[in-house]
Amino acid sequence: MKTSINLNPTIVVIFGGTGDLNLRKLAPALYNLYSDGFMPEKYAIIGTARKKLSDDDFRNTIMEGVNSFSRSGKVKKEKWDKFAEHVYYTSVDVQAEETFGDLKKNIEKHQQEFGPNTQILYYLAVAPNLFPLIATCLSKYQLAEENTRIVIEKPFGRDLETAKELNNILTSIFTEKQIYRIDHYLGKETVQNIMAFRFANSFLEPLWNRTYIDHVQISVTEQLGVGERGGYYESAGALRDMIQNHLLQLLCLIGMETPVNFDADEIRNKKVDVLKAMRPFSPEDIRFSTVRGQYTKGWVEGKEVPGYRHETGVDPDSNTETFAAIKFFVDNWRWQGIPFYVRTGKRLFQTSSLITIQFKDVPHHIFPSAVSEHWQQNRLIISIQPEMSIRLQVQAKRPGLDMVLNPVDMVFDYKGTYSAQAPEAYETLLLDVMTGDQTQFMRADQVESAWELLMPVVNAWENKKSLSFPNYTADSWGPEDAEALIARDGFHWFTLPLNKD
Ligand code: NAP
Repeated sequence: MKTSINLNPTIVVIFGGTGDLNLRKLAPALYNLYSDGFMPEKYAIIGTARKKLSDDDFRNTIMEGVNSFSRSGKVKKEKWDKFAEHVYYTSVDVQAEETFGDLKKNIEKHQQEFGPNTQILYYLAVAPNLFPLIATCLSKYQLAEENTRIVIEKPFGRDLETAKELNNILTSIFTEKQIYRIDHYLGKETVQNIMAFRFANSFLEPLWNRTYIDHVQISVTEQLGVGERGGYYESAGALRDMIQNHLLQLLCLIGMETPVNFDADEIRNKKVDVLKAMRPFSPEDIRFSTVRGQYTKGWVEGKEVPGYRHETGVDPDSNTETFAAIKFFVDNWRWQGIPFYVRTGKRLFQTSSLITIQFKDVPHHIFPSAVSEHWQQNRLIISIQPEMSIRLQVQAKRPGLDMVLNPVDMVFDYKGTYSAQAPEAYETLLLDVMTGDQTQFMRADQVESAWELLMPVVNAWENKKSLSFPNYTADSWGPEDAEALIARDGFHWFTLPLNKD
């Protein structure tokens, strides 16, 4: 175990302390940070929600969350007891402003005990309509001083206008340096490794452009349906829930220019440059370069599952897309003319997140076609989950007296290479907030540029109801039009076989 790292005393206030996100992700992350020696020497975690709970009730509630969801399994009693001594609860109804008085008292008590260097982190794990209210109340109660940081969960707005409104409210109270807009995808080990892979290896850069790459695919597919989150999903859909944030951020990591250094703003500048260079959608592009889908019932692992329109909280006539595929272009010197195909959806055949970079074919084939009947252009496949790997697919000669070529994989596999368990994304990101590192967080202009790019598609899909919904069966790879979108250009969606571990 590492010793505690040198961090200022910290008070973490979690709005939505009794909610799913805290129980599933935040509490396990904080406990694992403590177990691994990454919490400050002096810290307090204050959970808040409307429910009336004692400190002990709250400790027990989150212990159940940690026991059920932590990567490190059930808590170890001695360790948990020490951690739990730092955990408190204050009932706050953010719609009843006066309850912030109780929170203030609790914060001040710890602040006095910890001393003048204490930093306060507010984590907003509540419904997005409460974000402005919380920020405003924190300001009114003088709880938004210089020593504070605020973490905002997704979704950040539901369109460009609401994202701008939220940015305006937040930046009227906090400085940009105090605002942490979270996109948990950016905290994943495999996603962070994209920068290491691209910018710490000299052989890639000469190949990383339109001369050698013929297209890029980013595919984030889920086997699960919307489950209990139908009510939320009805107001979101695949475009808002996944593409506006996670998939565009992955695209930025693949498309960005080399940063001058590892400074948070320098990296975020380079990402924004990609978003700004992306080709705006004309009405014609929306017709030919975008596909939306919605799942109907089907069978998943031997169980019949309902169609989207029959899920709890979903309008039986819903126009919400549970699948989206889009062809993007980045209009700059590096990427001109190179398509970036992006797709995501629920109730698909496989849960996986893959980035595939397909290189151009060799300029001249010297081998007779019979020798290389399984010929395939080189591919670099970055597998984010569930497999955590990077594969370079190359042609090789099969051993034997005859000359036969077939594609083989050169694999860097996390599990085989490193024995240490990778931290969860929320551990990485919470530690970043404590240390004040904004590299993996979205700046206001990043969020707004992503919305700006997608607004024509958002509006077109919202204003024109799909007549073909539902248009794909649960356990399939999505609507046929998504295959056609990429097939028209001579490609197909790449997948990794299941259980490749
Ligand atoms: P949730 O399970 O519904 O929890 C909501 C929390 O907010 C509860 O603790 C609730 O407790 C509290 N709350 C509701 N109204 C309140 C009020 N007026 N004043 C104070 N507290 C109030 O929601 P969630 O799934 O945790 O999601 C929280 C946020 O994280 C959402 O913005 C969501 O989009 C985002 N998010 C969630 C996940 C996830 O895996 N769950 C993933 C990514 C992003 P009381 O009812 O006792 O007040």
